[in-house]
Amino acid sequence: MHVCDGFLSMRNRKMKEKIMIKVSEIIKENKPTLSFEVFPPKTEDKYEGVLSAAKQMSKLHPSFISVTYGAAGGTRAFTTNIAGDIASLGVPSLAHLTCVSSTKESVDEALAQYKTHGIENILALRGDLPEGVSDLGEDADFRHASDLTAYIKSHGDFCVGGACYPETHPEAENKNADILNIKKKVDAGCEFLTTQMFFENSIMYNYMYRLREAGVLVPICAGIMPITNANQVKRAIQLSGTVMPPRFLALVDKFGDKPEAMKQAGIAYATDQIIDLIANDVNHIHVYSMNKPEVAEAIVKNLSDIVVLK
Ligand code: FAD
Repeated sequence: MHVCDGFLSMRNRKMKEKIMIKVSEIIKENKPTLSFEVFPPKTEDKYEGVLSAAKQMSKLHPSFISVTYGAAGGTRAFTTNIAGDIASLGVPSLAHLTCVSSTKESVDEALAQYKTHGIENILALRGDLPEGVSDLGEDADFRHASDLTAYIKSHGDFCVGGACYPETHPEAENKNADILNIKKKVDAGCEFLTTQMFFENSIMYNYMYRLREAGVLVPICAGIMPITNANQVKRAIQLSGTVMPPRFLALVDKFGDKPEAMKQAGIAYATDQIIDLIANDVNHIHVYSMNKPEVAEAIVKNLSDIVVLK
């Protein structure tokens, strides 16, 4: 029995009518879309706070809201519940799921719970490896995200997405090998890809070209992280090894010690990136909104005539 199962069944009883739409339907046309992301609480007492952030974001009518997954799986019930609650708020939801620490049995259980909660969309990920581990190994039920993708596709009617890396996944042998692995994910049934955050659009345009050339033709959601405080910069570099363009670093140098100014500058930078992406026909934008509805709202306001949400 999962640690949060009692809480899960309690929320289950409160289920309202859900909005059940597949992300692949939402992004099938090349019209601009804007989606947000929340991460689940680590403990039950923080649940209402995360739900409140998701509620405020849902009032902005995003194309969908995604809910991340703790790689170790200990907060799975919270991912399920938040994603289920988002669907009840009238916004399509996307729940993440990782291979790390998953078995076929635990994935079967997760899929059954996602179904019960009206979740139609799953982002299938490997998850970051625990320290000192360099590969999940051949004996693992799911070694790569592509294995999990294939399993989910053959065990239920879910729309499955995956992650991709404009600056190459840090463990990949090289750029080309990484793209060939993305192709395997798509061949396994992945219907769309969301990128790791990036701060230099030219890197994304080059990546899109290479993906398309390798035959990866599914829609791509560009992952944009509005940096709203200087500490996030270090974390973003650690997480993704991303290139921070001098223009962005100048903002951090100038405003990093002035929280409100940094927030304004970070939101403006992200807005500028999004407008440039859409102007270049990269139309699906996923904002790493990090449980900050005020950031999501500022971005929506800045784009009010560029991305029409309803
Ligand atoms: P994979 O696609 O399995 O790739 C991992 C590495 O293995 C890559 O180097 C790839 O080139 C290589 N590889 C893939 N397939 C093969 C193959 N068949 N043979 C050989 N090599 C292969 N983490 C979480 O814990 N929870 C989350 O909710 C979460 N959400 C994320 C959302 C997005 C949009 C992104 C970009 C990342 C997210 N992550 C999350 C982080 C992610 O789990 C890590 O980046 C992880 O290290 C790789 O996951 P993946 O799904 O890309 O793995």
